[in-house]
Amino acid sequence: MQTRIEARHLKAPAGVEADRILRSCVHCGFCLSACPTYRLLGNETDSPRGRIYLIKQLLEGAGASDLTRLHLDRCLTCLACESACPSGVNYHRLVSTGRLLVEQQTVRPLRERFLRVLLRLVLPYSYRVRLLLQPVKWLRPILPAALRRRIPENLAAGEWPPKRHKRAMLALAGCVQTAARPRIDAAAARVLDRLGISLITAKDSGCCGALSYHLNAHAEAETFMRRNIDAWWPHIEQGAEAIVITASGCGVQVKDYGKLLAHDPDYAEKAARVASLARDLCEVLEGEDLDPLRTNAAGATRLAFHSPCSLQHGQRLDGKTEQVLRRLGYEPGIVPDRQICCGSAGSYSLLQPEISQRLLQDKIAALEKSRPDLIATANIGCLLHLQSATTIPVIHWIELLDPLRH
Ligand code: SF4
Ligand code: SF4
Repeated sequence: MQTRIEARHLKAPAGVEADRILRSCVHCGFCLSACPTYRLLGNETDSPRGRIYLIKQLLEGAGASDLTRLHLDRCLTCLACESACPSGVNYHRLVSTGRLLVEQQTVRPLRERFLRVLLRLVLPYSYRVRLLLQPVKWLRPILPAALRRRIPENLAAGEWPPKRHKRAMLALAGCVQTAARPRIDAAAARVLDRLGISLITAKDSGCCGALSYHLNAHAEAETFMRRNIDAWWPHIEQGAEAIVITASGCGVQVKDYGKLLAHDPDYAEKAARVASLARDLCEVLEGEDLDPLRTNAAGATRLAFHSPCSLQHGQRLDGKTEQVLRRLGYEPGIVPDRQICCGSAGSYSLLQPEISQRLLQDKIAALEKSRPDLIATANIGCLLHLQSATTIPVIHWIELLDPLRH
């Protein structure tokens, strides 16, 4: 694609990068059928190619309108378009540049501004989420079924094994997951302990920064990223092998730390090192002898696996979790249109509820097709979103392997 980017944008690294990405798009349209919003709404401007064109116009000085913002807001950042694109267009870097420009050039209605600030004030802080969530969790058993499904169960995390192995890996402390379902990280620690690896947490680490970043608060996201790097660094120097991430959405962000902090001379090198150590849990288990985890329960469980977009498209780890589960005797059922987003997408379900709900209904129908006893997934956002619309229990796949479960 030919471009005529304004000179002022070409003075900044993000503008130069955007120009390069725009030029790599050949307008073939192969990405259109992969895009959930294009499939639902049928508008070119709600497709990857249409959004790329809108961003091109912005960078060429056309100015942003409320409509430009709407079409960029409707993007789930699911990155199915990146998986489908034969030219390797780096859509996610381009859309974040485009969104930032739109945010600077337009004024959102008061309600939207309020909601976005509220999300940034609450969700990245696990203690704030816990404070709000815990009373509702206690009330959950007496609520009507439809409402109950929207609230996480009040499950005990169980014991976190002490550090006793020579091999150690760091856990991402996270934010929403720690408050909504603390059992996931504790189960990962118990599973890794069985495999001879101690999972440790670093004091003062927390949210990965993804939520702020996707709400166009890049400086705030960078503060979270630097805080994590500072907290992890002493453990990395002491030989921690990896940073294990149990929420695939956070994994995409941590794996991007190197690029996102490349402009910061104090953190660029450390950020690149941290990014190189980031592993989704399935990548860790993939390389281990899994015999200590074998149980008799596997073959008896009818399972559907929802592969989050952040795992399939964001981290390009499609099929790896299923391979780990198969090695342990589980046989996940076939899920039609598995590459399509469930509509959770971080805070998208709160900001774009209508599209999100339509995608959720389609996803639940696809997952229920094989009549599973359980639905497993790899991202807390998807887990909570899916559970709100089905009576089938939705769990994180590591909970299946938890020694406390067997
Ligand atoms: S598939 Fe890739 S090259 Fe083709 S229109 Fe979409 S983004 Fe552009
Ligand atoms: S990230 Fe997802 S929703 Fe956004 S343009 Fe790409 S495929 Fe469509």
